[in-house]
Amino acid sequence: MNDSPLAPGLYLVATPIGNLEDVTLRALRVLRSADRIACEDTRQTRKLLDRYGIATPVISSHEHNEAERSRQIIEELKIGARIAVVSDAGTPGISDPGMFLTGAAIAAGIPVYPIPGASAVLAALVASGLNTEQFSFIGFLPPKSGARRTTLEDLAAGLSRPTTLILYEAPHRIVDTLSDMETVWGPACRVVLARELTKVHEEFLRGTVRDVHKQLNSREGIRGEMVLLIDAQPLTAHSAMAATSLQARLVELEKSEGLAEKDALKRLARERGVSKSELWRELQRERSRVK
Ligand code: SAM
Repeated sequence: MNDSPLAPGLYLVATPIGNLEDVTLRALRVLRSADRIACEDTRQTRKLLDRYGIATPVISSHEHNEAERSRQIIEELKIGARIAVVSDAGTPGISDPGMFLTGAAIAAGIPVYPIPGASAVLAALVASGLNTEQFSFIGFLPPKSGARRTTLEDLAAGLSRPTTLILYEAPHRIVDTLSDMETVWGPACRVVLARELTKVHEEFLRGTVRDVHKQLNSREGIRGEMVLLIDAQPLTAHSAMAATSLQARLVELEKSEGLAEKDALKRLARERGVSKSELWRELQRERSRVK
């Protein structure tokens, strides 16, 4: 065990994502030896510190005070403090506060030390059974349905090789997100839902997006923390057709086949397998995006 004193600097310390045993010896030593621990939520971190008998003073640094708090922390670091940063769970900076402070420390010439450990993104990926050679972490999708669909469409259009896309998702949105994925990638696309990782009710649902959707719909309630992974393939000629701009196809139908807008809309709805009203909504969404 290394018992040399901690060097001055900023320590980004990963903490467990459920199971309190998932913390490294080095993380515990850093938390014990630091001058202060900057926590996303001090009550949450206290559970870990109490479990390991660590009495280091804590301060709160969360998304609402990160900028102001960072200035104070940087001042302390400049005079040689050793500050550990933790989020509520997992690795700071990964869909959690930490990035701003890290940038500020680097700009001020302060050493930044990563203390690696748990992160839901990698835990979910390695056990998913999906491609681990090429993956992309997306974080949380926008909560509003139009923006979420647009993001998924942009992701699909931007792929040049098979890629596992990894998303964090909330239980109350998971069913809608799966529906959107089905629309973008088709019902046969493979997904994995990793729920409650490292906890008592850890669960992996693996299958086509339609199967996983059905399984969730058959449950009384959907709870817990979850990571959604999708085996995203580059668009084939068929799916590329679906991703072609609706506006462009509409104009094409009007020009090349001489259809009136009303008839072109009817034809396009048939082509895309959606109702006229759904197509109209999609078209409005697309138009507002390109404005
Ligand atoms: N910084 C964290 C990390 O490194 O994983 C992520 C923080 S983010 C605010 C919280 C989201 O991570 C949750 O909504 C969920 O999507 C995912 N997550 C965190 N812990 C999880 C767990 N035990 N099982 C599944 N997903 C988890």
